Amino acid sequence: MIRIGYGWDSHEFKKGIPLRIGGVTVPHDRGLSGHSDGDVLLHALTDALLGAIAAGDIGTYFPPTDKRWKGADSALFLRAALQQIKKAGFHLVNLDSTLILQEPKIGPHAMAIREHMAELLDVDVEEISVKAKTPEGMDMPNTAVAQVVVLLEKRSGRERRAHAEAREPRAENVDTVVEKLVKSASSQRKVTHGRN
Ligand code: MG
Repeated sequence: MIRIGYGWDSHEFKKGIPLRIGGVTVPHDRGLSGHSDGDVLLHALTDALLGAIAAGDIGTYFPPTDKRWKGADSALFLRAALQQIKKAGFHLVNLDSTLILQEPKIGPHAMAIREHMAELLDVDVEEISVKAKTPEGMDMPNTAVAQVVVLLEKRSGRERRAHAEAREPRAENVDTVVEKLVKSASSQRKVTHGRN
């Protein structure tokens, strides 16, 4: 079974705070304000994961009115969402994301962000896509927006076993191995005999 999830978030730039995107600190003279560390990408991702299993959104679990989440590392929210999808029997297949912001340029940091997110999500970096656009024709010089889509998969017990075996073939039992050796030896004898 597969499920799609979608998340969207926006935060305002503010001077004097670090810019956190996808769990990485990106060098810039302004950061994103918010009740937590303002990580717009991890917030959109958290919503996408929860959305895929129709389990509410980030505010359901971490209301901004709760003082405990002031300045919190957004990886905490992400971990909670991962726990929810795991509990529901799903795992992440891949994610695609787009950041929309005037500056800074995200391209030079995209690989570091992808690698960090892959680590947080325990998947290969190839499963994580981070793209960025400037907001042409949109008057939003002080805003960063993130959009994320995720694909989740749930395997039945039989599918999980087949997948595990495909990755690591089950050891053959001794009888099968002996039978194969005898067969190949006898066919080699036939070839040799034919040549003679
Ligand atoms: Mg947010």
